[in-house]
Amino acid sequence: MIKDIQYLWLENVYLPGKWQTGVRLGVDAIGNISSVSFGEAENSDELVNGIIIPGVPNVHSHAFQRAAAGLTETRPFENSSGTENSFLTWRKIMHDFVTQITPDDQFAIASQLYLEMLKAGYTAVGEFHYLHLDPTGNPYRNACEIAEQVVQAAEQVGIGITLLPALYSVGGYGNVSPNQGQRRYILAVDTLLKMVEALAQRQRNDGNGQVRIGIAPHSIRQVPPKPLADVLDGFAGIDSTGPIHMHIAEQRRDVDAHIEYFGTRPLAWLLDNIHVNSHWCLIHATHIDQTEIKSLASSGAVAGLCPTTEANLGDGLFPFSAFLEAGGTWGIGSDSHVSVSPIEELRWLEYGQRLIRHSRNISAPKKGGATGARLYREALKGGAQALSRSIGILEPGYRADLLVLDPSHVDFATGREDELLNSLVFSGNSNPILHVMCGGKWVIRNGHHPEEEIITNNYKATIGRLRDMTL
Ligand SMILES: [Zn+2]
Repeated sequence: MIKDIQYLWLENVYLPGKWQTGVRLGVDAIGNISSVSFGEAENSDELVNGIIIPGVPNVHSHAFQRAAAGLTETRPFENSSGTENSFLTWRKIMHDFVTQITPDDQFAIASQLYLEMLKAGYTAVGEFHYLHLDPTGNPYRNACEIAEQVVQAAEQVGIGITLLPALYSVGGYGNVSPNQGQRRYILAVDTLLKMVEALAQRQRNDGNGQVRIGIAPHSIRQVPPKPLADVLDGFAGIDSTGPIHMHIAEQRRDVDAHIEYFGTRPLAWLLDNIHVNSHWCLIHATHIDQTEIKSLASSGAVAGLCPTTEANLGDGLFPFSAFLEAGGTWGIGSDSHVSVSPIEELRWLEYGQRLIRHSRNISAPKKGGATGARLYREALKGGAQALSRSIGILEPGYRADLLVLDPSHVDFATGREDELLNSLVFSGNSNPILHVMCGGKWVIRNGHHPEEEIITNNYKATIGRLRDMTL
């Protein structure tokens, strides 16, 4: 018989706002923390030695792009202005690649990616999902065919997921028609809303606490004002507090094109025309001015930052220190998955600011304190808000999503409390994560997932076939 509550005794734990040794954590049958008490190792079901911290939410993922990581790192031909070697060439390769992906491929790719996320310390993902149609651009008999593969991959691997089906209405500014590479993304507003409703209903029926459904109008570039207003209205009728994610101001060219068509900057336009609030997560927001920084911070929306992808694509640097000064909320994402590591995202978020400001410890708390600890804590808080799930802290009512770090790892030899998080973020490249619990289940033990071999072999076979077809 399965007990209703399992009790874990944890050696050294980061609880909200404080470190505590000897913590007894009750975890209920659906994976929520039911109690936190101190000092009682006896009568616990399991003793967990190590440094225990909450797992990190990953606010922005396009799972299929994992399969193309490394494929776009050769300099293509250039024209006289050099503009061929840009975001646009990356996007063309991505679109060519994506036209081949089947639902089974999507399952294989997402399973491998989510496995990598768990091993790296992400315990929840925001999947910004826009691969809806079949390779010819026609609907599958089941409109949720590929979306369901993504959810099943998350469930098989054991990571929590906020699935954000994306609305992608046009090929670009000026209502241009979609090109061949974009044909699998295009859906009418009504079709997308029906899909969201069906997925949300299934999630309500399952009630396992690991899945949340939101919505993602792709960007102002791909979703003009009318379908944007319609999809937001429709979604409010399905879930008035559900998460809404959108790309914004990622590239200078986006900002320039927006100004050409709307006469104003994209984030300013969005904040002026749409009620953006704490249910929103705006992805990238790289090119925003001083007024937009303050307005974004005061809107309560989360800035979804993806430093390794933004670097890989040559986007630019988000004005992180000014956004912190303005009291903004933020989270991190791995986006195109050129890196799947919360540590690398946090490290480069800080290093980008150090490089342009010729200074150190930019993100440290004002009155002094640990830079890495502040980065980690705020990524937990903003990530949980963006994914609209009860995650990111270890206290009753929240998911039992935690990482167990190896206390004998050389990087933790001298540190204690917040210094441990500094070492985690800023020291070395070896992974100190021993075990990962997600939704009350151990999904990684001693650095391995029980289905790892099957998942990885399936991925390798899939990627080999896709690359042969594409390149
Ligand atoms: Zn993205």
